[in-house]
Amino acid sequence: MDYYELLGVAKSASADEIKSAYRKLALKYHPDRNKEAGAAEKFTQINEAYAVLSDTDKRAHYDRYGTAPGAGMPGPGGDPFGGMGGAGFDPMDIFEQLFGGAVGGRGRRGPARGDDLETEAFVTLQQARAGEEVEVTVDRLTSCEHCHGSRTEPGGQPPKTCTTCGGAGAVRAQARTIFGVVETQQPCPTCRGEGQIIQDPCTVCKGRGRTLGSERVGVKLPRGIDEGYRIRVAGKGNEGPGGPGDLYVHIEMEKHPQLRREAEHLIYPARIGFAKAALGGKVEVPTLDGPLTVEVRAGTQHGELHRLAEKGMPRLQGRGNGDLIVEYDVVVPKPGALTPEAREALLAYARAVGDEVNEKHEGFLGKVGKIFRGD
Ligand SMILES: [Zn+2]
Ligand SMILES: [Zn+2]
Repeated sequence: MDYYELLGVAKSASADEIKSAYRKLALKYHPDRNKEAGAAEKFTQINEAYAVLSDTDKRAHYDRYGTAPGAGMPGPGGDPFGGMGGAGFDPMDIFEQLFGGAVGGRGRRGPARGDDLETEAFVTLQQARAGEEVEVTVDRLTSCEHCHGSRTEPGGQPPKTCTTCGGAGAVRAQARTIFGVVETQQPCPTCRGEGQIIQDPCTVCKGRGRTLGSERVGVKLPRGIDEGYRIRVAGKGNEGPGGPGDLYVHIEMEKHPQLRREAEHLIYPARIGFAKAALGGKVEVPTLDGPLTVEVRAGTQHGELHRLAEKGMPRLQGRGNGDLIVEYDVVVPKPGALTPEAREALLAYARAVGDEVNEKHEGFLGKVGKIFRGD
């Protein structure tokens, strides 16, 4: 296996020619793109060739001996894993470094995407019911508009290939282990894994290629969305070499002043006096479509429920809506809340039904002789 032949370059090829040839082949045979039989093996081979030929010392060794350093030299002090194919070699590492994937970054395939971001959206019941689009503000890194992400000042000196790593972005280091000396690949300390040195940094982004800015992002709510869910907005995370990450929006429900939510149902606690509960009447219920007058059945008991079908929230999974449930809270007046007339009327009621009650205004309030209104 001739490394020069594999990359299709001459023995005298420059570092840049080797890199350029490798780029083309790596993209062509990358297992994510090329599903042909033998493509993965070819991909590994060209990475192996590049790992050697892009390293000045290894290339010199290869030119002299026709083998990669360490290959075919097992035994004490040698590489116990058999050279390039062994420990410390992963074709994806080289690929990621050359194509912008951060060393040690997430993902093993292709250049790394930018970071995902998280934020929360405060949503009203009305917005959740209608499935509205709400806006959130997110601080995200986007490609610098001045240099278009190139990091170099427009018109300035182009970046130069890092001389430490020859543009590979990685250097080999030797580590002593119980197996002997093992070669590992590490991000190049000079270019920090980027393979090139920016000579004229962009004046706007200071050579970072990205700028931080606040952005309003629209989030379409699924109908019936509830607290505890999160919505992914694709591409609204930080910009990265392999494209932007995603934005995750956590949903927080705003408290409604009168309605309580229980999944797809809405609960309205309706306080009614015991007279209305006994005799029947009307109560105004605040629905999400506006107030609705509801008939209170004569003989309504405390805690009784009255379902207004389909007046609740849309079911997030499934069809239709939940209900709006009126939960009756029958209020018994406290002693201070009774006027003398109301008290007389109540006594008359008690006598009529034969209920034995305290005829006199007794207790603490009676002794003080003071009548409170309200409670
Ligand atoms: Zn810039
Ligand atoms: Zn370097």
